[in-house]
Amino acid sequence: MYMYKEALGKIFSKIDEKKGFSEAISREKTYAVCRRCEHYEEVNKEFFAKILGGAVAAFGFKAWIAFLFAGTGFAFAICVAIIAGGVAIAAFSKEISEWLSKRYECPSCHNKSWEIVTGEELILRHHNMDKDKTIDGLKNEKEFFEKKIEEIEEGRRLLEMKLKEVRNNHPDQFNKKKAFFKKTFKNIKNNDAIDFLTTGEVFFEFGNKVVEGDYSAIVLEYVKSVETLLLEVLKKRRIYNKGDEKLSLNGIIKKYDAQWDTEIKEKIKEIREMRNPAAHKNMTAKKEAEKIRRIVLGGGDNGIEKSGLISYINMLLL
Ligand SMILES: [Zn+2]
Repeated sequence: MYMYKEALGKIFSKIDEKKGFSEAISREKTYAVCRRCEHYEEVNKEFFAKILGGAVAAFGFKAWIAFLFAGTGFAFAICVAIIAGGVAIAAFSKEISEWLSKRYECPSCHNKSWEIVTGEELILRHHNMDKDKTIDGLKNEKEFFEKKIEEIEEGRRLLEMKLKEVRNNHPDQFNKKKAFFKKTFKNIKNNDAIDFLTTGEVFFEFGNKVVEGDYSAIVLEYVKSVETLLLEVLKKRRIYNKGDEKLSLNGIIKKYDAQWDTEIKEKIKEIREMRNPAAHKNMTAKKEAEKIRRIVLGGGDNGIEKSGLISYINMLLL
């Protein structure tokens, strides 16, 4: 079962991450830890320079000095922390974490919520985590992740419902878009593929308002469209086998490896990497959805440009 495999994979990748955890941490240093994914970075002058770097570039050096010495908000705390380091960082940990959470995105999970902890504390936490390696710990983690996955599945179902809602409440928009796709991709006769594409596009336009932050339902529509069309290519070449409709996007590429040129394989690989659930904790951000949309449709501000996976497949279907 995929869900189980996914949960197990998460447990082991988590433990693997932790193996290198304690060696890299110094008791004397201070760290910013991502509240969501536990990614951590040492808090030192370089760290502040990295975060302030954007401000310096955007507003110039004078503005930066003014900002640091303005005496409002967190400037004093940050200023002292940069200059004094160590103890001052610990003393102003609350201010620094608030300041950080306003402006620094976790490079690992893109969340913006940080806490400041000492190396000592981090190592202690690490030892607690070691319990996870026992069978009981593993079982608890497995249950935890299975529950989480259930929640995610529930969320997906909700998304699907909202998707139908959008489709029913805005039939004009849906039909217009569908007609446009039919006209643009003349060789695509598969109605499902056009439907997936249309749903993805209409929902993309509503996406922001309908589901805060999660674009996975939209991405799924684009992917289903590509899957359906690759199977159409196989059917046209008379090498389609019964049961192939159950293959995943990656499965279609792998099983019929010789059928696809490098360009297609690369695009599919890009999509697959972005869809890897472990990479973004099952939330598909708008940025990723936009990237997948560009790969599939060619992107651009006003609809489809000439490039894009679908128009390429449209040519294969001639
Ligand atoms: Zn993170």
